[in-house]
Amino acid sequence: MTAPANGVRLGNGAPLLDVRDLVVHHGQLRALSSISLQVYPGEVYAIIGANGAGKSTLLRTIAGLHHPTDGAIVYDGRDVTSLRPEKRATAGIVMVPEGRRLFPSLTLEENLKVGATYARKGPWTIERVYDLFPWMKERRGQRTAQMSGGEQQSVAIGRALVANPRVLLLDELSLGLAPVIVQRIYGMLPQILESGVTVLLVEQDVSQALRVATHLQCLLEGNSTLEGRPADVTAAQVEAAYFGMGTVAQEVQADHIEGGEA
Ligand code: ATP
Repeated sequence: MTAPANGVRLGNGAPLLDVRDLVVHHGQLRALSSISLQVYPGEVYAIIGANGAGKSTLLRTIAGLHHPTDGAIVYDGRDVTSLRPEKRATAGIVMVPEGRRLFPSLTLEENLKVGATYARKGPWTIERVYDLFPWMKERRGQRTAQMSGGEQQSVAIGRALVANPRVLLLDELSLGLAPVIVQRIYGMLPQILESGVTVLLVEQDVSQALRVATHLQCLLEGNSTLEGRPADVTAAQVEAAYFGMGTVAQEVQADHIEGGEA
């Protein structure tokens, strides 16, 4: 699951998701300033950044939960900027929200069924989610309130998968979880990608993001401060972009970074 070594983005055709100059306000606060990104089929695109950088706002806007002040969201060649969230889900843009947002009084399986409400046709069924997370089958009748954070996160991922996403938006999977659990959850990513799903994720845990991403962008106070492939950026560049040491957004080119490793 690493980026191709030749410096070429995955997928030479059109991006599956093309976010153009997105501006989003929360009241008077400008949460995102002219953010653009292109996610190609098969990629794991990571948005990194500190608290309040605008990562969740970006993901939620792509899912249709915030309305941008300016800019456009083009998905599979179609402008979806004004499309309602449920229509985006049916079209294949599906989010695992920060904090899971399960229905705690419902059982595991009932939560998965909720995910299928706006489902596309596709390979993911509840049975296939049980194949991905074998522990779920025998606990399908248990209320999710009684489950650990890691288990709830897995249910939230399963709930998104049964909607058969083409683009899966993952908001801070690692939040509040022990590192070993985070690794286990991210360990599922290859199987999800193999099913044809493209991933756009938000992570505050930079090392985790760099481990799985084929492309990344760093946000700081709503601005883009770094974009490139993990293999082409240095730890110093990521640190500078994350903490704001240096002001100009930099797009990293494979041919002018020497031996870059983050
Ligand atoms: P975190 O990791 O803490 O969630 P983030 O990078 O995801 O941070 P956002 O949650 O997108 O950042 O927040 C960006 C800015 O917008 C912050 O200043 C936050 O306080 C503000 N903000 C986010 N949501 C709202 C909202 N619903 N109403 C008002 N302000 C908001």
